[in-house]
Amino acid sequence: MTIQTLSQKLDQAYEEMVVIRRYLHQHPELSFQEVQTAKYIADYYKKLGVDVKENVGGNGVVARIKGKLPGKTVALRADFDALPIHEETDIPYKSKVPGVMHACGHDGHTATLLVLAKTLNEIKEELSGEYVMIHQHAEEYAPGGAISMIQDGCLEGVDVIFGTHLWSPVECGTLAYRKGPIMAAADRFEIKVKGYGGHGAQPHKTKDAIVIASQLVMNLQQIVSRRVDPIDSAVVSVGSFVAENAFNVIADSAKLSGTVRTFNEKIRDLIEEEIERVVKGTCLAAGCNFEYEYHRGYPAVVNHEEETDFLISCAEQVQEVDQITLTPPEMGGEDFAYYLQHVKGTFFFTGAKPEGVAVPFPHHHPKFNINEKAMLIAAKTLGNAALNYQEVNASLKESVTSQTK
Ligand code: MN
Repeated sequence: MTIQTLSQKLDQAYEEMVVIRRYLHQHPELSFQEVQTAKYIADYYKKLGVDVKENVGGNGVVARIKGKLPGKTVALRADFDALPIHEETDIPYKSKVPGVMHACGHDGHTATLLVLAKTLNEIKEELSGEYVMIHQHAEEYAPGGAISMIQDGCLEGVDVIFGTHLWSPVECGTLAYRKGPIMAAADRFEIKVKGYGGHGAQPHKTKDAIVIASQLVMNLQQIVSRRVDPIDSAVVSVGSFVAENAFNVIADSAKLSGTVRTFNEKIRDLIEEEIERVVKGTCLAAGCNFEYEYHRGYPAVVNHEEETDFLISCAEQVQEVDQITLTPPEMGGEDFAYYLQHVKGTFFFTGAKPEGVAVPFPHHHPKFNINEKAMLIAAKTLGNAALNYQEVNASLKESVTSQTK
């Protein structure tokens, strides 16, 4: 019954979601600089009379809504930062800030969560448990906002967390899920080969950094093909090779940089070590020195199985959801990963392909846009999950009690 009420109330509040999303779309702020957006979010809760905490781990905002009865604590997360992109759409609510744009749908995430929170607050007398609204700053820029918000206590007492990304490549009305890894760990490495430069005509008096770095590029190919179990997947790509000189000069040094993508922490550790071993070995054989740096980005987003099954069962009850599909893992990164290292939960994609568009502009594109109806679907799915989680746990408790009797 409560779930029906929630659904009806969200239908009525959809227009407000659109208004909020468009306002945020016009006023984007970059990661770690989202002061006005954070204030907008906090003010919204203050007007509702909801308990809200500002400056959580930076610009983060966390609101807590308590039901009348005791129960589980469910966290829902939405990020709110924008990107350093100059918007090139013709929409009437386009960004008013030159060079900054909500080109990943985080404006929509925020509008979804705010209005869902308002709706939950209106029916809190009927609810059990507690609902933690995590409005996260700085998702787009490592180290991201999730780590600092967790350190600042946003997951205190939380039993489960759910999050979604509005996803323009997927049809509106479709939800895409995955158990286990859904988004990759994205890391970066830098290698400097320190040879000994000299005259192009006297190679025997040099240590040619270009030749050594070229060997290195080839040797690195063996990590994925000969060190990683073929059942696991990984990417090691050298994206940059810099050693510029005159045509008759042997290079003194060469710089390589590249990216590593993995879905498993053990493979990630292995690759970090293996790159170092290959660099050491190759440079030792050539009698030269090196510098090696490995920069870790976000870990992989690894969804918990039971919670993913549970989320799907809740999504099936949403009238506007006409398809639920298994998605292949995405090679992009997301700092939702950190929450899932602390509590159980799942992260899924809510299809948000704009209407009447065959091939939508990708996320992070200057002409990116979403189908706003996806916000309503996301709100209903997350709302259902939050409320059902109480009932599932209440009935589990009952069955345990009856068994012990
Ligand atoms: Mn994003």
